[in-house]
Amino acid sequence: MGSCTISSPFDSLLFDLDDTLYSSKTGIGQALKGNVQDFLVEKCGFPESEAPNMNRKFFTTYGSSLAGLRASGYDINPDDYHSFVHGRLPYDLIRPDARLRNLLQSIKQRKIIFTNSDRIHAIKALDRLGIRDCFEKIICFETMNPNLWKSARPDEFPVVLKPSMEAFKIAIDAAEVDPRRTLFFDDNLKNIASGKAVGLRTVLVGSAIKSKEADYALETLSNMVQVIPEIWLSEEEEERIGHSRNEMDSILATTAVGA
Ligand SMILES: [Mg+2]
Repeated sequence: MGSCTISSPFDSLLFDLDDTLYSSKTGIGQALKGNVQDFLVEKCGFPESEAPNMNRKFFTTYGSSLAGLRASGYDINPDDYHSFVHGRLPYDLIRPDARLRNLLQSIKQRKIIFTNSDRIHAIKALDRLGIRDCFEKIICFETMNPNLWKSARPDEFPVVLKPSMEAFKIAIDAAEVDPRRTLFFDDNLKNIASGKAVGLRTVLVGSAIKSKEADYALETLSNMVQVIPEIWLSEEEEERIGHSRNEMDSILATTAVGA
């Protein structure tokens, strides 16, 4: 064996947060949508009847309502926006997830968060799940948009978010990973497509069926062991498997002789 042993093809894992590390069924996403619509009405003066449509349109075209508002010339401070839409979320709906924690702790590779959300939200959600210390780094809204707080005009710097290629380049840089040896987990099809385009190995979460750009699909993260067992491959592990294979061979040989 020695130099012939196969180790894991992955040395880093990049995880989206919302609807990836906790289920979209928690109600957090629904509450967030309501808060964004309230922001559009209360802070920007959109009619209540138009708010759901505007939110959808901004999300599809710009990645978020904050991005859409700023691109449209609204001088919205990102911190005010985030504290309004995230600050009032019912975080107690996110329950501690001991199974996920055990799963993450069994993975020896580098683990990094890559989310469009702001840092305060990411930390609150990770703390609720009880998995914050499983991650080496959080790449988030602030990482992708360092210039927003300095700019004089809201449309001077466009908001950078997944699925833009720019966002992925910033994340790969900040994470200091080799995309070809990095697994990227996300529940959003567009994000998976961009991830694939920058050379990441992609895992669509929340679906048992792969999209065109997904290398793997997981209905839930707990399926990871069955679907991507190569994460846990290590030289030691390989040697152990090799060992038991030898033992198995000798058992079979003995049986054959006896028969
Ligand atoms: Mg997500």
